[in-house]
Amino acid sequence: MRLDGRRESENVEDRRGMGTGTKIGLGGIGGLIIAGLITLLMGGNIGDVLQQVGGSAIQTENGHEATAEEEELAVFASQVIASTEDIWAQIFKEYGIGQYPAPTLVLYTGATQTACGQGQAAMGPFYCSGDQKVYLDLAFFQTMDRQLGVKGDNSSLAKAYVIAHEVGHHIEYLMGTLDKAHRKMQATNQTNANKYSVRLELMADFYAGVWAHYENRYFNSISDRDLQEAIDCAQKIGDDYLQKRAQGYAQPESFTHGTSAQRMKWFKLGYQTGDVRRATTFQESDATL
Ligand SMILES: [Zn+2]
Repeated sequence: MRLDGRRESENVEDRRGMGTGTKIGLGGIGGLIIAGLITLLMGGNIGDVLQQVGGSAIQTENGHEATAEEEELAVFASQVIASTEDIWAQIFKEYGIGQYPAPTLVLYTGATQTACGQGQAAMGPFYCSGDQKVYLDLAFFQTMDRQLGVKGDNSSLAKAYVIAHEVGHHIEYLMGTLDKAHRKMQATNQTNANKYSVRLELMADFYAGVWAHYENRYFNSISDRDLQEAIDCAQKIGDDYLQKRAQGYAQPESFTHGTSAQRMKWFKLGYQTGDVRRATTFQESDATL
């Protein structure tokens, strides 16, 4: 996608090259509630929405040397988060939702402390509502190219979609949807909790699509090819696709993010309509989701 000359965000916290700091004594990621983009790729089952369990972030300082490619990705990520700030501020105004409190994008390498416990690169990008931050290890984008075979360049819509999806969880948090769903997930069995998770994830895909809709409307920055790459990416991170690839079959009751068809459907719906009122994943039946 074309982002030349676009502004970078001021809400970026660069922790690359820093240590992980002091651990908070809450059992790390074991105490977290979960749902995750691309996590299954790494063979894990932890996710990209972490629920706050308390504690605060502490880092130690280290030098960090980045390659030119990494710097390119860092600028790209900053431009994408800046775009989400402008667009969501505009949407909030348009729909009378109020001021948009933007999340912070944290760039880190390896592992880092969050208000939700320790974040690790193997989890993939994630959002922590406890500190309203999106956590991203830029190496993830290389993994994405390699493992998903997403052929996009370093500023592809597929990569921007990953960031916009995490911002989508931030929107869910601001709307109260995230906390409400997490409360219900804690009060039910795993199979039902997974169903809530799928609806949260598809809603984040939808919001990513809404962002892309406005991005293209305002800046004409998205080509048909960009769009196809992002849709291909959504297709390759469906639970059914990933499970079949990893183990040869899919177990629908264990899905936490939705099928490939569902992920493409909700991203496309957001992109085509740009209408936040269509974020109805919690109102859909299993059959219509
Ligand atoms: Zn997600």
